Amino acid sequence: LTSGAKPDISREKSAQLYEKAKTFFPGGVNSPVRAFKSVYGTPLFIEKGDGCYLWDADGNQFIDFCCSWGPLILGHNPAKVREKVIEVMANGMSFGAPTALENELAELIISNNKYIEKIRFTSSGTEAVMSAIRLARGTTKRDKIIKFEGCYHGHSDSLLVKAGSGLVTFGETSSAGIPKSFANETIVVSLNDKEALKKAFEDFKEQIAAVIIEPVPANNGLLLQDKDFLQFVRDICNENCALLIFDEVISGFRVGFEGAAGYYDIQPDIVTYGKIIGGGLPVGAYASSAAIMSNISPEGGVYQAGTLSGNPVAMAAGIAQLTELSKSGFYKELNNKTQEFADSIQRYATAKNYKFKVFTIGSIFWFAFTDKDKIQTAEDIDPASMEKFKMMHKELLNRGIYFGPSGYEVGFISAAHNKVDLEKAKRQIFETLDLVFR
Ligand code: PLP
Repeated sequence: LTSGAKPDISREKSAQLYEKAKTFFPGGVNSPVRAFKSVYGTPLFIEKGDGCYLWDADGNQFIDFCCSWGPLILGHNPAKVREKVIEVMANGMSFGAPTALENELAELIISNNKYIEKIRFTSSGTEAVMSAIRLARGTTKRDKIIKFEGCYHGHSDSLLVKAGSGLVTFGETSSAGIPKSFANETIVVSLNDKEALKKAFEDFKEQIAAVIIEPVPANNGLLLQDKDFLQFVRDICNENCALLIFDEVISGFRVGFEGAAGYYDIQPDIVTYGKIIGGGLPVGAYASSAAIMSNISPEGGVYQAGTLSGNPVAMAAGIAQLTELSKSGFYKELNNKTQEFADSIQRYATAKNYKFKVFTIGSIFWFAFTDKDKIQTAEDIDPASMEKFKMMHKELLNRGIYFGPSGYEVGFISAAHNKVDLEKAKRQIFETLDLVFR
């Protein structure tokens, strides 16, 4: 990007902090994607967030479409969440004993979600999914699980597995340090591929404990599935007495209060939550029918625990945030706003004949450098297209627009992004597209 491109923002203080961070943390970060490895420049160290805005250590201001990777559906630092957290924190940070706040958050969730009867809080999405898998295995007395290529379910051993070649394969680990024997319990198939799923069930008859899917796959681009495929997954699980796990760590409370289960009206056996549920504090959860949940310790034999599970301060943030989401009209307004934003960017790109598509659901959107009308599997994404994302990412930062530092990541719109902010962002995105496609 040469003429027309904006000058680089100062990253002096961020760069200094990054150098120091590298002396403390592997790669200078506490979670890998933050290291900006797939985009230009060094990571920005964030100092403050307010509404839809972020400020970095050098004082640069951005409209934020990363929103802490999803949790911040009300935007940064919303007064209602902050005030509730401060109020609860005044009584102490953690007791390792039950509090009324856990009941309150559970009641708010369960009474507004017809797909679940009981819930257990954890401290992260990874923990929630890991526990859901153990619950499925303990309930069915079977060991193998099926996952889909391109779905991310956190970093537990049996889920850091990707597909090898061929129609149905044993997974190969996608991280060092995972025993091959663990990966052998995970079968990986392509999304949107009924035949592969059928074959997996035939090949491992009566061995499949569960199929786990992100019903809204949003960790490898936004690979929106047809309802027909999700229903097929539901049906084949029923036919084979396997459990269906919806990993709703992103889609839960995002595409609607009842998440993707409600959006598609498909009843999963176990659902996992994270991100939004904790209002920006570390909370995850898994939920199911009362019967299945009765297998969890101390009622049943499936062990799962946590020193900080149901932490009162985190519960307070969840209660405050979900209370706002449960108000009538919340999702309609947010989703309409997102649809308008996505539509208008798409219209611009189409009018200019750019090979560029905006995929969207709820308040999630994803920019794809493609001319395909649908992208439903990981293999449908051309890795070479990520070069364009890299250019776009850098130019947008220079124009005060913050996206997650990878073209495989989706963007989020929060209730705090108002019309003026979105207009401002759109103008910058249009001009950036003109530069990227010049
Ligand atoms: N499942 C899904 C669908 C996710 O998107 C993520 C995180 O991005 C996880 C699980 C893991 O959650 P956490 O990062 O809170 O451990």
